[in-house]
Amino acid sequence: MKKIIIVGGGIAGLAAAYRVQEEIARGASIECVLLDSAEKFGGKISTLRFNGFIVERGPDSFISQKPHAIELCRKIGLTDRLTGTNPGHTSTYVYVNKKLVTMPDGLSLMIPTKFMPFVFNSLFTLPGKVRMGLDLFIPKKKDNADESLASFVRRRMGEEALEKMAEPMLAGIYASDPETMSINSTFPMFVQTEQKYRSLILGMLAQKRRQANINSRTSSASQPFSLFMTLRNGLDEMVETLVEKSPAITFLKGTGVADLRVSGEGWRLTLDDGSVMDTDAVMLATPANISAHLVEKTAPKVTELLNRIRYVSTATVSIAYKKERFPHALDGFGFVVPKTEGRKILACTWTSSKFPERVPEGYVMLRCFVGGALQEELAEQDEDAIAALTLKELHDIMGVDREPEFIKVFHNRKANVQYRVGHSALIDSVRDVLKFTPGLYLTGSAYTGIGIPDCIRDGTHAATEAIDFLVGQSSAGV
Ligand SMILES: Cc1cc2nc3c(=O)[nH]c(=O)nc-3n(C[C@H](O)[C@H](O)[C@H](O)COP(=O)(O)OP(=O)(O)OC[C@H]3O[C@@H](n4cnc5c(N)ncnc54)[C@H](O)[C@@H]3O)c2cc1C
Repeated sequence: MKKIIIVGGGIAGLAAAYRVQEEIARGASIECVLLDSAEKFGGKISTLRFNGFIVERGPDSFISQKPHAIELCRKIGLTDRLTGTNPGHTSTYVYVNKKLVTMPDGLSLMIPTKFMPFVFNSLFTLPGKVRMGLDLFIPKKKDNADESLASFVRRRMGEEALEKMAEPMLAGIYASDPETMSINSTFPMFVQTEQKYRSLILGMLAQKRRQANINSRTSSASQPFSLFMTLRNGLDEMVETLVEKSPAITFLKGTGVADLRVSGEGWRLTLDDGSVMDTDAVMLATPANISAHLVEKTAPKVTELLNRIRYVSTATVSIAYKKERFPHALDGFGFVVPKTEGRKILACTWTSSKFPERVPEGYVMLRCFVGGALQEELAEQDEDAIAALTLKELHDIMGVDREPEFIKVFHNRKANVQYRVGHSALIDSVRDVLKFTPGLYLTGSAYTGIGIPDCIRDGTHAATEAIDFLVGQSSAGV
């Protein structure tokens, strides 16, 4: 029987294991072991539950426009557990000039698709609005060369759109510096829209018309998903269910891998305790810096390439208060903070408004983000310092002057991968080198998308390639 070992039980590794499970259920003769150094599977996905609160350490939801997470939930029987964001409070605020101002209605990511709300909104100055409107007339870029998010937005919509929208919202998702992050690898749909429609606004309007036509032909019951979806009891429901629904896979936690070498026709892994495991194929579903270290002796060129991928630190801070006389309305999903405001938090999600079922009656809960590429040192402080700066920011921005019921700080040290300009060419080079190391696969957020749906897609794809390799070896009698 052919064997594969998956190293890393984050969502990419678990999705890969589930793909192998499906193949075994169809009759394939494959042995699969998944190893993780941590005492819990899920990697960045980790949910805490106490006193009726559901607190996410890392991701709190995933985007439904990319189908891979919803599709996987369906396969493992979690469709009924999926839940969307609160439809009653969909506004997002931006902190500018010491005030929280709503984003105009009809913005699609950062592109205005409704004329009146955009014209009357106070977030942008008149010259800023006129400059954004020039997108309708500016010619498209002539080549496909990658550029930074900042350069793309400046070129199409101007400096104000970059400062007040793209930097806090789009770069914020990646905890990145917009001057260095790759537009091709992070928001390829903008590049495609520009190439197809010349103008982003015209492209988004065309897309809206298309969607309206589809909606008029299908019943609302067939479109049950909000833009962001999660699981009722927290995202780790998906982690636990994936393990439960993969009975043919051997899952070993608290089992770190220290080294990987070619051995005969296959691979030999040395574990942290010094023991060894042999396998025909191995998939590294670990962060790129760890995978770089593991393949150092076998594929030094891959190590050199993977070491170019940078990670930055962030911290998330969840804070709960009694609802009674809370000093600020929580009528939206929260707010983002442009770097020009000089504050110490990147954003704040009003969790009790976005996902009301995560908080018991009588309380509100907020979640703040600290650090990222532009203020990494703030996220590397100790928990007390991060808690203190967060409370001061909430006091200054929202006037919150009371004692919290609890405050929980979670460090995500070097956890946020940075897709810098040229990222996709770098990944192509990695793939080219891997062609010369049969039986070695890489997957995870470092490669073709950081979001949960992207990691699921990438892990599933890597597993399919590995299965083809193992089945090919079996039929060739290797
Ligand atoms: C704070 C934060 C908020 C986020 N919010 C969202 C969000 O709301 N929505 C969204 O879609 N995405 C979000 N993301 C991104 C998303 O969570 C991650 O990109 C994704 O979960 C990464 O999955 P992964 O499987 O690639 O890696 P990981 O989750 O990092 O898993 C890697 C695994 O490898 C294991 N490992 C490491 N070294 C070894 C070793 N030597 N031996 C064995 N095992 C090892 C680790 O223990 C870990 O379990 C967020 C990320 C962060 C940090």
